[in-house]
Amino acid sequence: MNSMNVIRGRPRGHAMINRDKLYIDGSWTRSTGTDQIMVEDPKNGQIIGSVPDGTLADVDAAVSAARKSFSIWSESSVEHRIEILTNLSESFKARSDTLAEVITMEVGTPIEYSKIAMVGTPRVVAKSYAKLLDSYQWESQIRNSLIVKEPIGVCGFITPWNFPLHQIIGKVAPAIAAGCTMILKPSREAPLNAFLLADMLHEIGLPNGVFNLVSGRGSSVGSRLSSHPGVDMISFTGSTNAGVKVTEQAAESVKRVTLELGGKSANVILEDADLSKAIKSSISACFANSGQTCSALTRLIVPESRISEIIPLVKERVEGYKVGDPMNPSTKCGPMVSSEQKESVLEYINSGIEEGAELIAGGPDPIEGLEDGYFVRPTAFSGVLPSMRIWKEEIFGPVLSITTYTSEEEALLLANDSDYGLSGGVWSEDIDRAITFARKMKTGQISVNGGPFNVSAPFGGYKKSGNGRELGIHGFEEFLEVKSIQKPIER
Ligand code: NAD
Repeated sequence: MNSMNVIRGRPRGHAMINRDKLYIDGSWTRSTGTDQIMVEDPKNGQIIGSVPDGTLADVDAAVSAARKSFSIWSESSVEHRIEILTNLSESFKARSDTLAEVITMEVGTPIEYSKIAMVGTPRVVAKSYAKLLDSYQWESQIRNSLIVKEPIGVCGFITPWNFPLHQIIGKVAPAIAAGCTMILKPSREAPLNAFLLADMLHEIGLPNGVFNLVSGRGSSVGSRLSSHPGVDMISFTGSTNAGVKVTEQAAESVKRVTLELGGKSANVILEDADLSKAIKSSISACFANSGQTCSALTRLIVPESRISEIIPLVKERVEGYKVGDPMNPSTKCGPMVSSEQKESVLEYINSGIEEGAELIAGGPDPIEGLEDGYFVRPTAFSGVLPSMRIWKEEIFGPVLSITTYTSEEEALLLANDSDYGLSGGVWSEDIDRAITFARKMKTGQISVNGGPFNVSAPFGGYKKSGNGRELGIHGFEEFLEVKSIQKPIER
């Protein structure tokens, strides 16, 4: 039985989605506390649902369920895990409209993008792990040693709101594949999708205790999970500040901690690039999901010799990036997730103006007709200097910062001038030249000439963008311990 006590189907007509129970040991269970966290629709600030504000005792109960089931799930057959992951992927297909609508309501992501990135991608990721298991080699031999890979154990997952289900599946799918058990703490802003996922996992028959869901605050549920001696690994996705805290909280128990953190990624247009292709793609790479994307390419580094061609192209595209109701299929840019996020983005836009960058599109003014929601104008600045806050800090909103270079060496220095290193882009008509440049960028993933996202390629950061890798085989192996069994050498 699921715990959605008002509606179970599509969230049409703004019915409240109130989830009043946590998913622990295969059952919908009342929290030991009584508080609920309210979930807002950022397009108008209305409350659309609520979830339990979990307690420390709820975390303890979930950890003990996950510990108990680890001894069984870690011994499950690979065939069983493949079946679960295949059925999960099918379940995504069956519920795709509901999932996309719920995420659009919680996050404000434009609905057409939700369908692809918020639901389609996690569906493919679940399937990719079923495929990976088909041929994965769990054992190998190094001289006299048998090398055995085993699931690491009980995992705690702490996730953000911006691509909520994608971040969750990037952890849950490889953990199921590896034979791990888990406790998920989703974000406070967008937790409803995680409850739908628990419904799906329950329906497809994932054994009790393998997946547990405890919603709540970072400072309580997240902190307890990170420090819990019964948790063997924490996989965290979120801001760099919270990632540092999670690492500190986890230190005493010496558990594995993998971090997927913030970004301020560079997109470099080399002198010979096709500008119309490059600018079209660069605008989507910065503004998708209303700019609330960790891997957004927010620093556009362009040749001084071509700036006069580039500015009108950027201006036209950014001004044409349609802001509006995220449920409207023609909307490209929805609201910011919360009023705090809106205020923070506006503060960055004002700081860019005050520090002397040239505003070429957008700006801090409200948008007529959209004053009730947390909307911000898609904004672009040129003449941005490396000393400015809009160059250095992650804004997490629809703001592009453009700067110029006069030599390729300078372009590389600018690209690598960041505390972060999550993503990047390079454009050139000569693919080898672009790849040579990409090799020198200090960042975890780089798109050359708009090369698309690959769900089986490792995703993760250099520097303050993190220390883990998700997706594909690299993401899978984060959930494994490696054991060497040394056999006697026969002489
Ligand atoms: P956030 O750090 O505020 O919250 C992320 C999660 O951490 C939430 O579930 C929150 O409740 C929890 N949390 C906060 N403080 C905690 C603490 N002390 N102990 C334990 N848990 C705690 O981030 P957010 O605002 O939800 O998401 C936006 C950030 O996430 C951005 O910086 C973005 O770049 C980053 N992000 C990174 C990736 C990636 O893969 N690298 C992907 C998406 C988002």
